Amino acid sequence: MAGVDLLPGNQSTHIRQSRLRWQFVRRATVLVVGCGILLATWRRFGVQGIVFPVRIASGSMAETLVGPHWLVTCAHCHFQFSSGVDHPPADTGATCPNCGFSHNRLAPNELRPGDRVVIDRWTYLWRAPSRYDLVALRSPDGQGDWAVKRILGLPGETVAIREGDVYINDQPLRKSWPLLAEMAVTIHDDRHRPTDATADSLHWQPGHAASGWHCTADGYNYASSADFHSTRVATHAADWDWLVYRHQSGLPPPTISDVDALWLDNDPYNQSLSRPLHRIHDVLLSFQVRNPDQRPIAVALTTNGHEFLIAWRPDLRQWELTESSEFNPASTNESSGQQNARVLYDWPPGENRVTCQVAYCDHQVLLIVNGQILIKQTIGPSPPTHLRQPCAVRIGASRGSLHVGAIRLARDIYYTPAPTVESRSDSVEVLGPAQYLVLGDNSPASVDGREWGPVSMGEIIGRVVRWQR
Ligand SMILES: [Zn+2]
Repeated sequence: MAGVDLLPGNQSTHIRQSRLRWQFVRRATVLVVGCGILLATWRRFGVQGIVFPVRIASGSMAETLVGPHWLVTCAHCHFQFSSGVDHPPADTGATCPNCGFSHNRLAPNELRPGDRVVIDRWTYLWRAPSRYDLVALRSPDGQGDWAVKRILGLPGETVAIREGDVYINDQPLRKSWPLLAEMAVTIHDDRHRPTDATADSLHWQPGHAASGWHCTADGYNYASSADFHSTRVATHAADWDWLVYRHQSGLPPPTISDVDALWLDNDPYNQSLSRPLHRIHDVLLSFQVRNPDQRPIAVALTTNGHEFLIAWRPDLRQWELTESSEFNPASTNESSGQQNARVLYDWPPGENRVTCQVAYCDHQVLLIVNGQILIKQTIGPSPPTHLRQPCAVRIGASRGSLHVGAIRLARDIYYTPAPTVESRSDSVEVLGPAQYLVLGDNSPASVDGREWGPVSMGEIIGRVVRWQR
């Protein structure tokens, strides 16, 4: 009997002792590991802490993060733009990118300090940097400076820059819509018209003398004219009455020209930076429509050797994207592929304004209506440069009446060849297993991975989070 009683008691004592021993080992391990982490954290972050604020000192990440700059309000059209102190405007004044007025005097009260950001050294303890992260790093030029850049290439990838776009493993890198919208550089904003503007001097003009489009104080009205009315459903470019954008390259120097004017990668931040300019092809159009009678509306976009028609058809209650060689003899279906997309959409009833955004960026076409992405279509390769027509943007109507306003045009970032090391232009970087390629958003004025080559994790100090401008 006793033996029978004794056996379980012995077992439970043995298990209790084993548990106590295990608890001791566990606590000791936690203590040792904890002290180790504390020591490592102190050695790595003790001087500045894990999260600390800094101020941006240069314009290499403008306009995402700006250094010391003048915040200029154009005397002619009241468009507001930043002009960096790194490449200050001429003595005669800053040139407005919107209207081309070049005598905007700089007032001392317009001088602003660089953006405040927070450097977060905590996040990368737990995860590796992601593409498009803004990071602070020790400048690899050996000067001991810190720099803020954006991560474009990840470990193991092959990165190339061609015609302003970044390619990863030979495929174009396509930014998300929020990122495209955040990084866009304004080309023209119709809400800011010069004080002495007349209907004939505006950038947006009716496509022909008998057009139903007419300029108003806050945009453009369309009413079917006697000479142009279609009873057909408009499916081809010729079926539409167009409001045409006349590009005027305001910077530098301002030149009024026709629709064939070159669309270039100039920008107001680097006013006096002398450099070769590049033809751009990634454009973003945004406008508001008042369309109470739910009439057809369209955008025609010619760029990079493609011609797209993006139209809302009331008969089918759908948005359509078509690309056809009909619009552009140079673009054959063999070279560009026929790109089509359809999505059902009910136009909101009544007088409500609908915001439409159409973009061709990073070899994709996007349609965003009231903030919702309706079409996101990947576009094939472009025909050779000599076959590409100049950029052109038009807004079309075909029946009834409607109103468009708040028309804005912007472009995507154009990644230029390295500004000081021409031999690295269009170069290809092959990244090792723990290497990143970092670039500045203000590509022509940035010293970055195009010159430095890849950077290692050890050179990255932390993630950069915007705090305040
Ligand atoms: Zn202006």
